[in-house]
Amino acid sequence: MLPESKLEEIYVKLHRIIPFSNVEGQGNRCSIFLQGCNINCLYCHNPETIPADDEHAKVVSLAYILNEIKKSMPFIRGITVSGGEPTLHYKKLVPLFIEVRKLGLTCYLDSNGFFDFEKIKELIEVTDKFLFDIKGVGRGLEHLCFDLKNVKGEESKNEVEKPSYMSQNIENLGKLLPLGKIEEVRLVHIKGFYDAYKTVDAIACVVKDYPEVLFKLIRVHGKGARDEAFITSKMPSVQEHEALAEYAKGIGLQHIVVIN
Ligand code: SF4
Repeated sequence: MLPESKLEEIYVKLHRIIPFSNVEGQGNRCSIFLQGCNINCLYCHNPETIPADDEHAKVVSLAYILNEIKKSMPFIRGITVSGGEPTLHYKKLVPLFIEVRKLGLTCYLDSNGFFDFEKIKELIEVTDKFLFDIKGVGRGLEHLCFDLKNVKGEESKNEVEKPSYMSQNIENLGKLLPLGKIEEVRLVHIKGFYDAYKTVDAIACVVKDYPEVLFKLIRVHGKGARDEAFITSKMPSVQEHEALAEYAKGIGLQHIVVIN
């Protein structure tokens, strides 16, 4: 375990901190957005957090972040580290989470689920809960999430190299559930890239034995996306979205929140 003074010597690229948020897991939480993501969702609403660097990101020490968290006490239950993809910073987050837990606060990660489980095991141990994205199943994900050169976030015209770890997020979900580390699973419902029903089947297959886990089904919208008109053209109708939610309930996903 690292003494707090060591946190002065570890630096991370911070996008921003929101002192209080009630949409990032249970209760009021301090939300910390780190810079950099390992995938490139076309519908991303924080696209400025995707590159490893951004003019608005600042390099800060973990001691600085801990101090900012302390300013939000006693009004928060914990912190949620988001991104970008927070697990990219897995080594640095371990000592931060250890210190935050000493304050009696819980530590959540808001993750896209694409990480090497074994590599980040130490971080998983000190994480209370994950807010966990499932991006879909099948080859359409190559264009939806893995065209890393597509900085404009437009519909990809070129063939994207198929990453070998495309089903990694479902596999990681299956490993985290028995550890009691999942608070909610989220799926952004978008047309044209993956089979939504097959994806819900895959989620139900691993989640239905954990009724305490929330399934959040979110209808995509274009606001904030790099190519708003394109994403808007891929929005399912409210009826299509509700029908998918009904299907999810029918196959055992009872604890469900539908966002239209
Ligand atoms: S996982 Fe997707 S939506 Fe989340 S920050 Fe990365 S690119 Fe954006």
